[in-house]
Amino acid sequence: MSTYLQLDTETRSLIQGCMDDLVEIFGRPCTLVYPARMTPCENCVYDTVTQLSSNRWRSGGPIPFPNSTACPQCNGKGFAATEVSETLTFICETDPKKFIAPFNKLALTVPAGYLQIKGRLTDIPKVERAEFLLYQIDKRYVRVGEALDHFNLVPNRYFHCLFERRG
Ligand SMILES: [Zn+2]
Repeated sequence: MSTYLQLDTETRSLIQGCMDDLVEIFGRPCTLVYPARMTPCENCVYDTVTQLSSNRWRSGGPIPFPNSTACPQCNGKGFAATEVSETLTFICETDPKKFIAPFNKLALTVPAGYLQIKGRLTDIPKVERAEFLLYQIDKRYVRVGEALDHFNLVPNRYFHCLFERRG
């Protein structure tokens, strides 16, 4: 039982709503890029034996081509890779001294290249499924840690997660 502060459900819910707003207000848009989705090429007939294009045009496909030549749409692979991405808002911190605990009181030079994001717990499955994250439009980061909720004022609502720069 807390000593000074008693929060009824309504007040607690209001505070949580305000904290959600803080993520939106102070957060930055980050693009999560998921593994490419492979869909059968719409321009050629797929060969289930070779698991490649049969090199025959699919009637009605957008780019007709002569039989026995490589499909110009998929280059004979029989599949098209569709990149799937989604932009979400996270609180972002790129100064490692702010999130790597032993360093914050030491005068160490920490190389740049890490990004810590904070976001809503409900977004964890998306963060874990993403192949990489785009920060400031084109800076590519990959996840190097688990998305965890272990420090928050409001438990079971937010997570933080560490990413590393990769191109
Ligand atoms: Zn094709």
